[in-house]
Amino acid sequence: MRITGVEIIPIKLPLIEPFVISYGTFPNVESALVRIETDAGITGWGEGTPDAIVTGETFAGVVETLRLLAPALIGCDPRDRTTLMHLLDTIIGGVPTAKAAIDIALHDLVGKAAGLPVWALLGGRSKEYLTISRVVSLNSPEEMARDAARHVENGFATVKLKVGVEDDVRGDIRRVAAVREAVGADIAIKIDVNQGWRTAGTAIRGTRGVAAYDPEYVEQPVDARDLEALADVRRMSGVPIMADEAIHDAHDILRAVQLRACDLVNIKLMKSGGLLGALTLNAIAETAGYVCQVGTMVESSIASSAGLHLALALRNVHTVEMGGPIMLADDIGPMKDYYDRDRVSVPDGPGLGIEPDESKIDRYAGQRFWVR
Ligand code: MG
Repeated sequence: MRITGVEIIPIKLPLIEPFVISYGTFPNVESALVRIETDAGITGWGEGTPDAIVTGETFAGVVETLRLLAPALIGCDPRDRTTLMHLLDTIIGGVPTAKAAIDIALHDLVGKAAGLPVWALLGGRSKEYLTISRVVSLNSPEEMARDAARHVENGFATVKLKVGVEDDVRGDIRRVAAVREAVGADIAIKIDVNQGWRTAGTAIRGTRGVAAYDPEYVEQPVDARDLEALADVRRMSGVPIMADEAIHDAHDILRAVQLRACDLVNIKLMKSGGLLGALTLNAIAETAGYVCQVGTMVESSIASSAGLHLALALRNVHTVEMGGPIMLADDIGPMKDYYDRDRVSVPDGPGLGIEPDESKIDRYAGQRFWVR
């Protein structure tokens, strides 16, 4: 089987409401779809959803990188996934989001060729279903309490609060207090600072401040580049610490384990360069005894389903945050149908198990590029 063509399709999808975190407000989702065609008549779909703050890749940049990488795939056997991903690393370093789009498409393709779902390619099912927490955007304490209460009413047992205002740590503590007051003692609260408290001193104050409201963990309280500060916060605050922006790939987790910088890791395909990179990262995390979560850049059905297949396969992944399909006002695929309150199931068919709706792609696509 040989790759005969690669199509790159930038899309913009509408969100139900803008997504607000410490470093920005996002009114819609910008994503690059990849369609890989073969001489066997089998097509694989992938998606790269950039977060420029996290990986330095812009929407336009991911499209350009994919145009740069696609010619190298022509004529190759898509089943040689590791060889192909290494080949891409010899063309350009970094750019994990663009590489994730290709990695996901290769897995979809190979799964379809083998008649196996992607989770089976990744080691098989480790659990029956996945549990998802709902994310509450950064807002006033009152609005966040209202949003969290609404999610709990809709059947979610866990809410994840976006905070992280460096010069208003007290305000962040009030946000968490207001949510705890609104949802009661039995709902799990996770806190994501998105690097917003920047330094260890501020983060220790913030983390100790929210400890009274019984968070499951505090995520990425400090600058992503400062693993030592993350280790200080972990030691001094007594609250479990999740690393997100600080850990992209296997090299990062290796250093985090050496420094004992965190307790948990948020794996994202857009940071790890796709499923193969995530497997390597997780092998180190699991060996070190870390629990992981599979998170999202708020992706459409394609990357979301890939993340769910990964989460289903990894034994030490207990929760997911693949909320893209239920946050989008319109999606190019059917993943929304696989969500039932706080439970998510994964399509059973070969590959990712879903096919995007071409008419929806036509509606939301910008200029498309074919490489043959
Ligand atoms: Mg995060």
